[in-house]
Amino acid sequence: MKQSVPKSQRLTLALVGKTNAGKSTLLNLIAGQPVAITSPIAGTTTDVVEQAMELRPFGPVLWLDTGGWDDTTALGEARKERTAKALARADIIIGVASSANTTPDDELLRVIRESGKPVIVVMTHADETEPPAQQMEVYRSAGAQVLIKREPRDTFLNHFKGALTMVLPKEFVAPPELLAGIVPPGGTVLQIIPIDSQAPKGRLILPQVNVLRNALDRNFISVVVTEDRIKEAVERFRPDLAICDSQVVDRMIADLPPDLPATTYSILMARLKGDLPSLAAGAAAIRQLKDGDTILIGEACTHHAADEDIGRVKIPALIRKKTGKQLTFEVASGKDFPNDLSRYALIIHCGGCMINRAFMLWRIDQAKQATVPITNYGVAISEAQGVLDRVLQPFGITLDAAPTTIN
Ligand code: SF4
Repeated sequence: MKQSVPKSQRLTLALVGKTNAGKSTLLNLIAGQPVAITSPIAGTTTDVVEQAMELRPFGPVLWLDTGGWDDTTALGEARKERTAKALARADIIIGVASSANTTPDDELLRVIRESGKPVIVVMTHADETEPPAQQMEVYRSAGAQVLIKREPRDTFLNHFKGALTMVLPKEFVAPPELLAGIVPPGGTVLQIIPIDSQAPKGRLILPQVNVLRNALDRNFISVVVTEDRIKEAVERFRPDLAICDSQVVDRMIADLPPDLPATTYSILMARLKGDLPSLAAGAAAIRQLKDGDTILIGEACTHHAADEDIGRVKIPALIRKKTGKQLTFEVASGKDFPNDLSRYALIIHCGGCMINRAFMLWRIDQAKQATVPITNYGVAISEAQGVLDRVLQPFGITLDAAPTTIN
């Protein structure tokens, strides 16, 4: 089993349904070996269990095996909340319904109708009870694909993979590229990478490596320099695009000719992983902050905060300096992202390297539903440094423009 691909880059499948519908048994059947605990006692899977595996031909996937949503124990509410988060992280939802049920699963129907995500319903226990045709029709009419799990395993597995193929999100069919549409064919990309005390020893960080790899895949010329050699590199190599770390964006813009397209790694990642027009509009909301406003710093993981932590120290200092306002900053790490966002004037979220695109988009959507602007660290830094319009130019986004989409 391949475990080296980060969770954030795996196709994420959430298994949901009532207790003892057969979710874990289904997972074991697909894996071809026991990877989840099963038992006839209802509620054996009490929390969300994550299981990474290779699923040919889809590649690395991450299963989120949830507890049953009809859990009536004292911990039931907490488990339901975790199931809701698993649904938010999912690219595809696998609903499991027992053929022995006399009525359709109402919660499953609600998820099919309201999640906005593809749902495949698997009717289990079909070797003992004939799956009710009328229930299957109800799930189908709500918008789900419906499969019957029967022996032999290989036949079911073929049907299951066929159904997955039909609903695979487009970013997994043709993964978007970091440099798509912003460098001319055969062009030259200048990467500006500070090698200071904050740079990891002896290696590059993932966005830098990914840009380099994408440039090679597209047969671009790559030039990589530290920030003290920008002018010299521009003169010698005449790049078509310059990309830098957000923390030196002011230096990059000062040293580049005004007509040279430029952006940051954070903005490239935000376009790939989030909703760049929304995050750009969120950064523009920094201009409207008032005395007494509270800003939420959202961290997608519980990393160890350093003395000069970007989210907790550097960004608050930059925003206070830029606005001159009395502002309060609160931090929410990992799973502590608040359910009620309405009291915040702005959310500044990290780049979310540890979470997948679906979860990042869900958080952006939570903010939109609460009518709170949301941006991310890199986009906010560019705004605080007064260069946001310039680094958005390669994507054709101006802050008053209608949303643009990645292609
Ligand atoms: S960018 Fe977000 S998810 Fe990645 S390490 Fe920082 S806080 Fe964690």
